[in-house]
Amino acid sequence: MFIYWNYSELSMEKQTILIIGGGIAGLTACRALAGHYNITLLEGSGRLGGRVFSDHHNTVSGVVERGAEFVHGGAKNTLDFLKEAGIEYRKMPGKMYRTENGRLEKLQDFVEHWDKMLDKMKGADERLTLDEFLEQEFPGEEYAELKKQARQYAEGFDLADPAKVSAAGLYEEWSEEEGEMYHIPQGYSALVDFMAEKCREQSAEIIVNALVKQVNWQKDDVTVQCADGTTYKAHKLIVTVPVGVLQHIGSDAHIDFNPALENHMAAIQKVGWGTVIKAILQFSEPIADEDVGFVISEEIFPTWWTWSVNKDNPVWTGWMGGPRAKELSGLDRDALIEKVLVSCANIFDIPVDRLRGKLKAGEIVNWQNDAYVLGGYSYATTETKHAREILNMPVEDTIYFAGEGLYEGSEPGTVEAAIVSGLQVAGKVMVR
Ligand SMILES: Cc1cc2nc3c(=O)[nH]c(=O)nc-3n(C[C@H](O)[C@H](O)[C@H](O)COP(=O)(O)OP(=O)(O)OC[C@H]3O[C@@H](n4cnc5c(N)ncnc54)[C@H](O)[C@@H]3O)c2cc1C
Repeated sequence: MFIYWNYSELSMEKQTILIIGGGIAGLTACRALAGHYNITLLEGSGRLGGRVFSDHHNTVSGVVERGAEFVHGGAKNTLDFLKEAGIEYRKMPGKMYRTENGRLEKLQDFVEHWDKMLDKMKGADERLTLDEFLEQEFPGEEYAELKKQARQYAEGFDLADPAKVSAAGLYEEWSEEEGEMYHIPQGYSALVDFMAEKCREQSAEIIVNALVKQVNWQKDDVTVQCADGTTYKAHKLIVTVPVGVLQHIGSDAHIDFNPALENHMAAIQKVGWGTVIKAILQFSEPIADEDVGFVISEEIFPTWWTWSVNKDNPVWTGWMGGPRAKELSGLDRDALIEKVLVSCANIFDIPVDRLRGKLKAGEIVNWQNDAYVLGGYSYATTETKHAREILNMPVEDTIYFAGEGLYEGSEPGTVEAAIVSGLQVAGKVMVR
């Protein structure tokens, strides 16, 4: 074991800061602080980007977005960074559809009673889960469709368990105008590369394959130990690893703190943590009309989209989130591909054997099994608001937490959330 970096030997003009996690939050904080401090960023896996992962080496030809791929119109900071980096983003082609009684129908703009539900969510008791709120405010069969769709939405898009997610917590996101949705043809990881380059330009050091296992600390004095025994020292530490990693004590990427951070670690258990499985299928010929770009259904893999509606080699992505994804996350690739094909065949009304015959390649991405993430993204339970207040508080001006899971606002569980959290933590470090 050796001490990699001893800050006492460095100029006292600049303090040293360690950042754990090379996802968007860590890179954003690194970029904002580099130049003001001596920064070293430690990433446990062999690549930067975390849940942003544009894979160019897979069975499906072209770029496969294993993680983030949509850029929401309201994601102001993300769009600003993309513009600054000169990274092209394009509007989604095709229209939104849903299956109704086994048929594909264009999605109506509104679900009956949805606005009334949002009005009531606005002032809802923070302690009510979505299930409790819907039963209390919308009892009876009259609202059965509204309740079904609200639950589907929470599970599918927020990866949330309706029995745990806070109704009030969903309000801010659900009441935002949906706006345009974009994607990045060259892959979302282009933004990661840009951010890393900006960090290095300002002399930040970025080290991959540096899996942090233990943090020993006292005020303004942190020693971080990695799995291979390498040790790093600094004045301050920013931890940006996913909520799932901090929640799963004993997992490979879990970090132990000495002395223990009891309040923060109790708070992390109160952040909702969702699961998602993505399936990317490439077919030899189109399987849907050109107009169909995005589909919501009640199939096991309920949500589907494509960026290549009118191409000869169409690629469709299937998405399953929430409690069902957790239940099925133990299935192997072949079993999942079978479920994916059945869902896809039902939605597009194609016999499953015929669809199988058109399948050229298929990838399954199961983030629950990714040792550095252990899930999808966060959501707010009835206890999360208070928990996030604790997590966002620095520990003795020495240890700071950041990342998508600590974000409060209208873009939860997104790249935007990670960027905002990264900027906020940098702001907190700078005012100290
Ligand atoms: C399948 C999927 C689809 C998504 N789709 C979208 C989308 O379309 N649009 C959107 O905006 N957002 C989307 N998101 C969410 C978005 O990807 C995340 O919110 C964002 O990337 C999180 O960034 P982060 O920096 O907070 O965390 P991460 O990206 O998870 O970064 C944390 C980093 O910490 C590292 N790490 C973990 N443990 C250790 C350790 N012990 N030592 C050192 N390093 C460690 C990890 O390897 C990782 O690189 C999606 C997420 C998933 C999973």
